[in-house]
Amino acid sequence: MKKKICLIYTGGTIGMVPSKDGYETKANYFEEILRGIPELFDESMPDWDFLEFSPLLDSSNIAVSEWNQIGRAIADRYEAYDGFVILHGTDTMAYTASALSFMLENLRKPVVLTGAQIPLCRVRSDARENLIASMMIAAEDVVQEVCLFFGGKLLRGNRSVKVSADGLQAFDSPNYPPLATAGIDIEYNRSLLLSPGGSFSPFHLTEFTETNIGVIKVFPGISFSLFEPIMTENMNGIVLETFGAGNMPTYDNMLLPVIRKAFESGTIVTVCSQCQQGTVHLGAYAVSSPLVDAGAVSGYDMTTEAAVAKLYYLFTLGVPVGRIKALMEQSLRGELSPMD
Ligand code: ASP
Repeated sequence: MKKKICLIYTGGTIGMVPSKDGYETKANYFEEILRGIPELFDESMPDWDFLEFSPLLDSSNIAVSEWNQIGRAIADRYEAYDGFVILHGTDTMAYTASALSFMLENLRKPVVLTGAQIPLCRVRSDARENLIASMMIAAEDVVQEVCLFFGGKLLRGNRSVKVSADGLQAFDSPNYPPLATAGIDIEYNRSLLLSPGGSFSPFHLTEFTETNIGVIKVFPGISFSLFEPIMTENMNGIVLETFGAGNMPTYDNMLLPVIRKAFESGTIVTVCSQCQQGTVHLGAYAVSSPLVDAGAVSGYDMTTEAAVAKLYYLFTLGVPVGRIKALMEQSLRGELSPMD
């Protein structure tokens, strides 16, 4: 029997049209354009339905409530389709992919996010290639996780980052090899795919609750005393983007007391790296080891996008702070590789 997938269109460049203010979304327009593309009805393609969000959004405006909306759109139709393609703006696609990877529990079907750098209405658009390959992947019983297809590569969603503002190879997953590459054929790296845990646990959606999360990028000259009120009041989770393998300036002796105070007031400080490739290794240098004593947790090789999404997820679950701390350092959906 022919596979059936659902295209969920949230907005983004892929379906945008030019306006006097630059590219913008247009309601009730894209489905008809897609229905006019003969290749999308080729024998090799799955049957598909189209669901359009209202309003359509530039992905800069996608946040927790839209993640929940996408999650509900999938959960409400989970049994009716073999797979899902989420059409999404590229700017925050890696965040949405990370969020969905945590929200969609016991997922056993492909959920593929894609978009384009050039709208479909333009002659040189990359939309067609991205869309067709994503639809094929969503119709195959191979992937059972949230992933992102772009520029010929299928990446684990919560390992992906946007690496180019204008290139057609706009995404990469520097700490995890591609799950598949699309050349003449779509070649899967099957040994890298997530296999569903808890074999009989049913699929369900965990909608995120709004939580105060912050990201602080460390830079030469940062004065932690200025950040103290932000880090110690009203924050649930902080992702610290540190130098290299988790290194921090220690010159003003303010960092550790601030982190300790944040931790004591229930804030989870997760240490990620500003480097795209490689892992945080707290204790490799003297400037990072006190972070552990102060209560910070290692994000290992997790992207900032995944760390942010994971904090939302764990605070949503309402588990005790000590447990959140432990879970931040464990792989829940293949988002990190702990060090041995
Ligand atoms: N600003 C757009 C968005 O993220 C960019 C894109 O889709 O490529 O929605």
